[in-house]
Amino acid sequence: MRAVGIHPDVVVATSRVWQTTCVLLRSGEEAFCIDSPVFPDELELLPTLAGQAGFRVVGRLATHGDWDHLLAGYAFADAPLGAAESTAARLADEPGAAQRELRAFDDEHYVERPGPLTLPSPQSLPVPGHCGIGDRELDVLPADGHTRDGMALWAPWAGVLVCGDYLSPVEIPMVTSPGAYLATLARLEPLVEQAEWVVPGHGAALEGTRAAAILREDRAYVEALRDRGADAPLPPARRTSAQRAIHAENVERCTG
Ligand SMILES: [Zn+2]
Repeated sequence: MRAVGIHPDVVVATSRVWQTTCVLLRSGEEAFCIDSPVFPDELELLPTLAGQAGFRVVGRLATHGDWDHLLAGYAFADAPLGAAESTAARLADEPGAAQRELRAFDDEHYVERPGPLTLPSPQSLPVPGHCGIGDRELDVLPADGHTRDGMALWAPWAGVLVCGDYLSPVEIPMVTSPGAYLATLARLEPLVEQAEWVVPGHGAALEGTRAAAILREDRAYVEALRDRGADAPLPPARRTSAQRAIHAENVERCTG
């Protein structure tokens, strides 16, 4: 796991698998853990990482309800979980889904965990809205289209946008609804333009200008997916066989 401080109040940890990111974010005496790394040793290290940074983690947040973003309970068991209303509803609709998918991943990769995943029903955050942390507030924006749920978080004092599974430098858009996806990109755009850093759900933290370039590529791809289906060209730097497989799944979901 790689850990990088991008601001005195923001540490980004990146998992060895899928470059899944976890953000430790502080204001004053309080810190949140947003999303999670995946492997047990990475999760075990998180409290130490927070301690070294001088962050006291009082809550965890999940940008959306995909299982690989929901594992921070292994690191901060006592910290309550907050999520968008849409994510709280999704988790209530799909009881046990995250646990099943985690178990399938662990079985495939021979990963042993200290115990089963416990996932309390999250506190719902109003979206769009604000979420208090220390003496400040995060702006919370809806971010759907990748999945039917989700939120992005903007820390104005740090100029940091944590956007969930959008704007990844390593993964093409995974799309369930092109219209919702494009609306999310439009909502993120003005924040990306003023951001110092954008932290996508997968891949390294991006400087604002680089994130803006990815946003333009992703918009072009999703528009082409909507209009041309399978013929949509992939973003230039993301044309590996794994990304072509994601494209095929997008076509299936969005045009089928
Ligand atoms: Zn993800």
